[in-house]
Amino acid sequence: MSFTSLGLRPEILRALSDSGYETPTPIQSKAIPVIMQGRDVLAAAQTGTGKTAGFTLPLLHRLSTTPQRASRGHHHPVRALIVTPTRELAAQVEESVTTYGKHLNLTSAVVFGGVNINPQIAALRHGVDILVATPGRLLDHIQQGTVDLTQVEVLVLDEADRMLDMGFIRDIKKILALLPAKRQNLLFSATFSDEIKSLANGLLNSPTLVEV
Ligand code: AMP
Repeated sequence: MSFTSLGLRPEILRALSDSGYETPTPIQSKAIPVIMQGRDVLAAAQTGTGKTAGFTLPLLHRLSTTPQRASRGHHHPVRALIVTPTRELAAQVEESVTTYGKHLNLTSAVVFGGVNINPQIAALRHGVDILVATPGRLLDHIQQGTVDLTQVEVLVLDEADRMLDMGFIRDIKKILALLPAKRQNLLFSATFSDEIKSLANGLLNSPTLVEV
């Protein structure tokens, strides 16, 4: 299996070769084709398996291959939302988005708590294609009207089990209620408790289970 045979855009293949990646990891080989088909995915993946590229690469492929949904006015709503439990993970995921997307014309931003919100508001003002966020700070932006989630095409919940452990379920449910119904959902989790299964049941439509 090679990245080329996965059908990713040449700009993405170029970024991977810039990063020195030669072959997809097992989670990438399994998850990328299913995500590229537009299906919802429930993925069992630990940190260190290459899971971040597993969802980021097909996400970048999709956004750069399909036009933005028509939206009112000339503002630029978020097309993909990636929610992570911690600021460290959020920053890391956004760095991956930037690295793998460096030859594409997509914009991204990251928002998390514990830092001044104003630079984040400035970063969101002109709109971004891909937003990486922790739940609490994302809700702050929603309440202040500084982020538009009405056009989200893809939702990723990364390390969903940790988000539940950290007590974010209410925040997640509030965020989900604001997203358009027609979208692709990707749920990544290292473990599958009853709570995760119940979240997955409510969120995912005929998901493909990806395990390595
Ligand atoms: P993750 O599990 O997403 O945190 O990724 C773990 C590490 O593996 C990160 O440092 C990635 O840059 C690296 N990585 C991910 N996919 C590949 C790949 N296909 N080839 C080489 N390194 C990779």
